[in-house]
Amino acid sequence: MTQSCLFCRIAAGEIPSKMARQTDDVVAFHDIDPRAPVHVLVIPRRHIASVNALADEDAALVGRLYAVARDLAKELGVAEGGYRLVMNTGPDAGQSVDHIHLHLLGGRTMTWPPG
Ligand code: 5GP
Ligand code: ZN
Repeated sequence: MTQSCLFCRIAAGEIPSKMARQTDDVVAFHDIDPRAPVHVLVIPRRHIASVNALADEDAALVGRLYAVARDLAKELGVAEGGYRLVMNTGPDAGQSVDHIHLHLLGGRTMTWPPG
């Protein structure tokens, strides 16, 4: 774990958050500043700064992030209506926390393209 990383510390339970799922290697918690009725962040426990830092060997882990998002979308009632999964990567995309995270957004109509 990276002590200076906010999401490493949330995953370790050092900083409180509203947890949605915890597995051996994946944690999901509700966003502190929700942009939709459902807004959950799905992260690996292991520190990976961004998609740019993913190794080919991380493919299965990334798959598990999506599997957790799929399950939570169903549990939180947005699977049928639809939802958006987003990984902002780098400054132009507005990534503000340098620990990879998959946004699960749902419960309202989305616009396209994102701003
Ligand atoms: P990004 O902007 O990097 O794509 O997404 C970071 C997200 O983390 C933002 O939606 C922001 O609201 C959320 N966030 C930042 N700090 C905290 C925190 O301390 N707790 C929780 N639950 N979410 C946070
Ligand atoms: Zn981290």
